[in-house]
Amino acid sequence: MVVYRCDGCGRELQAGRLRYHVKIDVRAAYDKMEIGLAELVRDHRQEMLRLIERLEDKSSKEIEETIYKHVELDLCPACQRAYLRAPLRFHPEEGEAPGIDIDAFLRSLGYGKPGAGGNVP
Ligand SMILES: [Zn+2]
Repeated sequence: MVVYRCDGCGRELQAGRLRYHVKIDVRAAYDKMEIGLAELVRDHRQEMLRLIERLEDKSSKEIEETIYKHVELDLCPACQRAYLRAPLRFHPEEGEAPGIDIDAFLRSLGYGKPGAGGNVP
C-alpha cells in the first residue's frame, strides 16, 4: 500500500482522502538568438574553454539544476490552500487559512470515500 505524506506539513495522507499533487518545472529561459555570419565564423574555442573551467568545480547535479529541475509535491488540503495563497512563499507552518473546505464538500458528494467509486481525479 502506498502511503503519501504531505510535503508541506509532514502529515500522513490517508488512502482515499483528498490530496493535491503539484508538479513544478523550472527551466532556464533564453531569448531567441539571431545567428549571423559573424557568429558562424568566430572562433568559439576560448569561450568554450572558459565555460568548461567555470563548470569544473560544480557537481553534475548542480549543473543540471541550472538548466532544468522538476519538483513534485503531495499536499494535504490545508497546505494546498496555503500554497495557492502564496506559491512563491509557501510556509505551511503558518497555519491554515480560513476558506472553503473543499475536502468536506467533495466528501459530501461521495468523492474520496474508499469504495464509494467516486475518486477525485
Ligand atoms: Zn499539509
